[in-house]
Amino acid sequence: MTTTDPLRQLIDSTLAFYERFDYVPELEGATRVFQEEVRELIEAAHDGQDKNHIAEEAADVIVTVVGLCAAAGVERERIIEQIYAVIAKNDAKTHATHVVLDGKIRRRQPR
Ligand SMILES: [Mg+2]
Repeated sequence: MTTTDPLRQLIDSTLAFYERFDYVPELEGATRVFQEEVRELIEAAHDGQDKNHIAEEAADVIVTVVGLCAAAGVERERIIEQIYAVIAKNDAKTHATHVVLDGKIRRRQPR
């Protein structure tokens, strides 16, 4: 399936890649590769020199998220739905509702 939506395209490509190799992601293995890719992204980000490498590692993390979700039986559209839900929540946050505190954007406490 071809789509111009990069996220759907990445998910489809990842699942097709697994299928081509008769690879069925299972939780232990998918968790291991996810953790490995997260570690590589953190290292690249902290090194900070090669922006392309950081972006490459970020893409690797997203691919392994797809694998972990597949291992857990979460289908593509459910992931997409939740991503759009996060986008809507982010877009709804304003300085009236949230504040930067201790290195994190947090909900304002009611006065
Ligand atoms: Mg990597």
